[in-house]
Amino acid sequence: MSDAHYDGRAMPSAKPMTASGTRTAPTKPTKPKKAAPKKRPKKPADPAKQWASYLRRYRPGLQAYVLEGLTRQYGEQTWEARLDPTSELILTILTQNTADTNAEKAYEALRAAYPSDRAPEEHRPGIGWGGAGLSTAAPPDWTAVENAPLPQLIDVIRPGGLGPQKAPRLQATLRHIREQRGDYSLAFLGDMPALEARDWLTQIDGIGKKTASIVLAFCFGMPVMAVDRHVERVSKRIGLIPPKVTADQAHDLFLGILEPDEMYAAHVLLIHHGRALCHAQNPEHDLCPIRDRCRMVNPKAP
Ligand code: SF4
Repeated sequence: MSDAHYDGRAMPSAKPMTASGTRTAPTKPTKPKKAAPKKRPKKPADPAKQWASYLRRYRPGLQAYVLEGLTRQYGEQTWEARLDPTSELILTILTQNTADTNAEKAYEALRAAYPSDRAPEEHRPGIGWGGAGLSTAAPPDWTAVENAPLPQLIDVIRPGGLGPQKAPRLQATLRHIREQRGDYSLAFLGDMPALEARDWLTQIDGIGKKTASIVLAFCFGMPVMAVDRHVERVSKRIGLIPPKVTADQAHDLFLGILEPDEMYAAHVLLIHHGRALCHAQNPEHDLCPIRDRCRMVNPKAP
């Protein structure tokens, strides 16, 4: 072949030369990759909604069955304000880890040791209360309780038990309310949405969802559920709440499975049933109006 047209430059070649002198296949131009669509972060599942949907699917109508059965047994429960909210909060702190009868003794002792000239308050305990009910008398003078020497306050409430733990808690609670609000009134909670009001109260040291829910449900008729040991035990036996859920979690599960206007009656009826028949030891299944759907009696109950 003539090289007349060869001008000394390398001939164009279909294959580029490698360092070792061999030819490689040309690389195809690559298309720019499309960016993968961004995944939206998954919302964490709401345990209350999940549990409500489980009950709807596998145990339909359970809540209504329980409420109807207990209402037949113990009567219709209509809400009425039980005490002034500050009194209710202090009384509820006094009930923590002790019987309601002991809390009554401690509260009456506060009234006697720190009298006030406020209007007498009437205690309407209803069937959810485990004591005899307070006498009708003026609430304690909260300023005097907050400022009392601690050893003295411990002695005053000692008849109710756990004086050394509860006296500082009472004073810290009253101090918190006064510092935040300027006085001891909790009436403002009635203007707040229920869960915001519950959050406000649970910011106070030693006040959990149970104590906060009792104040809001009994003083304002708010749709929150207080889960004490009776409510927790009975509900777990029936299967209204899962067996391993904590009492703290149970407060929110109930918000998913009960209608707002069922909350008060459910609390009062379950707590009373726990005292009357569904005792911690030797529950009286034979007398129970809801035994046909109780998972303690029949683990496959509908
Ligand atoms: S059947 Fe027995 S365990 Fe179940 S709710 Fe009634 S008393 Fe309690």
